[in-house]
Amino acid sequence: MTDIAIIGAGFTGLTAAIELARAGKKVVVFEQDGDVGGLAGSFKINGGYDLEKFYHHWFTNDEHIKTLVEELGETDKIVTRPSETGMYYNNSMYRLSSPLDVLRFDALPFIDRIRMGLLVFQVQMVRDWKSIEHLGVKEWLISLCGERVYKVVWEPLIRAKFSIYADDLNAVWFWKKLALRGSSRSGDGSEALAYYEGGFAALAERMREEIIRHGGEIRLNDPVTALRTSEGLVTHVVSSSGETEVGSVLATPAFPIIADLLEQHVEESYIASLRRVNYLANKCLVLELDRSLSDTYWINVNDPGFPFVGVIEHTNFEPVESYGGRHIVFMSRYLPHTDPVYAMNSDELLEYALPYIERMFPDFDRSWVLEAHAWSARYSQPVTERNYSEYVPGRETPLSNFIISTMAQIYPEDRGTNYAIREAKEVAKVLLNKG
Ligand SMILES: Cc1cc2nc3c(=O)[nH]c(=O)nc-3n(C[C@H](O)[C@H](O)[C@H](O)COP(=O)(O)OP(=O)(O)OC[C@H]3O[C@@H](n4cnc5c(N)ncnc54)[C@H](O)[C@@H]3O)c2cc1C
Repeated sequence: MTDIAIIGAGFTGLTAAIELARAGKKVVVFEQDGDVGGLAGSFKINGGYDLEKFYHHWFTNDEHIKTLVEELGETDKIVTRPSETGMYYNNSMYRLSSPLDVLRFDALPFIDRIRMGLLVFQVQMVRDWKSIEHLGVKEWLISLCGERVYKVVWEPLIRAKFSIYADDLNAVWFWKKLALRGSSRSGDGSEALAYYEGGFAALAERMREEIIRHGGEIRLNDPVTALRTSEGLVTHVVSSSGETEVGSVLATPAFPIIADLLEQHVEESYIASLRRVNYLANKCLVLELDRSLSDTYWINVNDPGFPFVGVIEHTNFEPVESYGGRHIVFMSRYLPHTDPVYAMNSDELLEYALPYIERMFPDFDRSWVLEAHAWSARYSQPVTERNYSEYVPGRETPLSNFIISTMAQIYPEDRGTNYAIREAKEVAKVLLNKG
């Protein structure tokens, strides 16, 4: 019998599998995709170079990833490099990498630039996030930095990121983002980010090897479609490869997927609590170009008429040599999965994006595009609404041997591989304690 079945080979599933297999448990990881990595998964470009489907990096204060990489004996593979951040507003590009850049941001009157700069310190004064959890992000930010800074700087970003849920987002999400971002900056306020040699694909592959080395198994292209239960316990998972008898189950996909699996087995009110958490989808256009668009790594788009939240020129962070000389640009859009853009294929998404690229980079010519790829993630961003901690389901479920560790439980921090690792290690302890 399998001691522990893990549903999902993203960073949560892979980390938990390493911990459990190292502790001597017989672990089987079921993954519906053909590869490991989940949302941080990769694909091949330009005849064999690995690239993330969605842009990924770490902050320098992401401790859990460092520990994991150290435990794998690969510390030297983490690379840290400076990164440049900019903002596109009103057809102009602004650099916003340091406090001095903020002071020069002439889209705002000087007094508002000061208020914007001070926000970083005001955010650090909030010691107890529960004290602001009942507030919407809009009311909280306006109270701190005023209406104009909110309208010019924050509202477009929040609307682009949270789409139809922008008015529901709580203040904690923003508070934690800014607090963490502030503490990952160096003394002069500039920012450095971290990456893995060979990309996230190389790390996910190293994690896969570690699981196998400790006797674990990873079944790719093997979605879990149902559960068998008896007397309040899961006894089998049903997947494409058949039925597997299990001692316990760790589920890592999004809550609605878990709700579908549990629906026949637990009370309706619990299923409703899983479905209460809202998610946005993400559509990402990945461009392989023959030259660079700009010298900025990360451009936040603060222009409400521009349908992408960010333009991320990955090769302004990771050298072009890692991709056979190709310049890599991600254009990201968060949206409800019912939006027609979500269903676009790569040609359609490129056609849709071209006029905006031309507007942002007037010298751009479509002949620069060597390849375009479109990636979609149905559950890419959980929405932490007011009083989220009061309604988000915890790890335990009505079935005592079915445990959940999913992205939407990472709170008050926002999702990210660093926290996926932290939670996976904690949940592995819970499973080991259960025996
Ligand atoms: C656009 C975007 C940008 C991001 N940028 C960053 C970044 O810069 N840095 C960072 O650290 N994080 C970033 N993240 C977040 C990061 O990708 C996630 O937090 C992390 O990968 C979540 O890992 P996970 O294992 O919890 O979930 P997932 O990666 O979602 O893994 C769940 C797995 O379950 C599988 N699955 C689902 N249903 C089934 C089933 N029925 N049977 C079997 N398998 C199933 C899925 O295929 C998936 O592989 C980003 C995410 C997005 C969407």
